[in-house]
Amino acid sequence: MSIQSFIPPQRTLMGPGPSDVSPRVLSALARPTVGHLDPTFIGMMDEVKSLLQYAFQTKNTYTMAISAPGSAGMEACFVNLVTPNDTVVVCRNGVFGARMIENVERIGAKVVVVDGTWGRAVDPQALEDTLQQTPDATFVAFVHAETSTGALSDAKTLCEIARKHNCLTIVDAVTSLGGVELRVDEWGIDAVYSGSQKCLSCVPGLSPVSFSDKAAEIIKNRELPVQSWFLDQSLVMGYWSGEGKRSYHHTAPVNSLYALHESLVMLQNEGLENSWARHKAQHKKLASGLEALGISFVVPEGERLPQLNTVHIPEGVDDAKVRQFLLNEYNLEIGAGLGQFAGSAWRIGLMGYAARNENVLLCLAALKEALAQ
Ligand SMILES: *Cc1c(COP(=O)(O)O)cnc(C)c1O
Repeated sequence: MSIQSFIPPQRTLMGPGPSDVSPRVLSALARPTVGHLDPTFIGMMDEVKSLLQYAFQTKNTYTMAISAPGSAGMEACFVNLVTPNDTVVVCRNGVFGARMIENVERIGAKVVVVDGTWGRAVDPQALEDTLQQTPDATFVAFVHAETSTGALSDAKTLCEIARKHNCLTIVDAVTSLGGVELRVDEWGIDAVYSGSQKCLSCVPGLSPVSFSDKAAEIIKNRELPVQSWFLDQSLVMGYWSGEGKRSYHHTAPVNSLYALHESLVMLQNEGLENSWARHKAQHKKLASGLEALGISFVVPEGERLPQLNTVHIPEGVDDAKVRQFLLNEYNLEIGAGLGQFAGSAWRIGLMGYAARNENVLLCLAALKEALAQ
């Protein structure tokens, strides 16, 4: 047997994630591994926490990165907060809202679904109507940036409505963090989770989360233990909040956390609002180029995610052939349609480090050539 080292091709990643990782983040990943209780590492973790508080725009003490991808952040928010006695209103306008429902069902809590149209934002009036008919609701959950459809929902308004009905909010910000406006404290979000590999442009495998004081109280005062030992946040809160001495729960993914630290330093250096503006500007450039090629958007203007552009595959064009052409000829990955949009749409990501002039130009030129063939 002589299996050789794996040398991946140099791709340009313009799909729904992972996104292009900057060379700075990749070099941070290669720095020497230290022990996860090493004083220098603990110092770095404190910085990660401050940087995440900045990215989320929150002062929440319980702001940390779960050692697993975004799906684990989702599950952590649900299993820590929701008990079988709860009634959770979940807004579903794509694949990830549907996963939230599954999480609630597995906990054994009651779920009430606000169904929306794929490719549209969540309708605030539909949430309001449902909450009026669901007086026992305790939580409202929704996806801020639906990566399966490219729709952006008005998280601020949805949280206002939830609060008016005395519900706590669980918000999926996997694709929104760093890419569009997100203000956890100002909007009153109680539990929020994200992913490292979307607009933070870090390697996959970490899930930033943040819990409000109210949410943290629920977690600390639970009578029924969280059914997942690994995701039970009461066991790791001490580590992240610095209360008492840091103790062993699981081995932190040391080098991945160097990478997250570096990507967050880059975000801080750029400025959060500048990052939001850059995503919007690159989206506009891409959108006008796509329209010139006769490619139209699935999501109406005003509800579009700048970082995830879902477009109709033009009539008569072979979906798989085009994506294969882009990959083989240009090392360029764009996303296929997901769920209801499988086979009928492409999802072109402009996330984090990928939201650059070079990528927009490459994508437009390569698509033009692919369509001409
Ligand atoms: C990618 C994504 C997830 C899941 O994250 P993973 O890191 O793939 O587990 C959840 N929600 C949304 C909106 C996403 O885009």
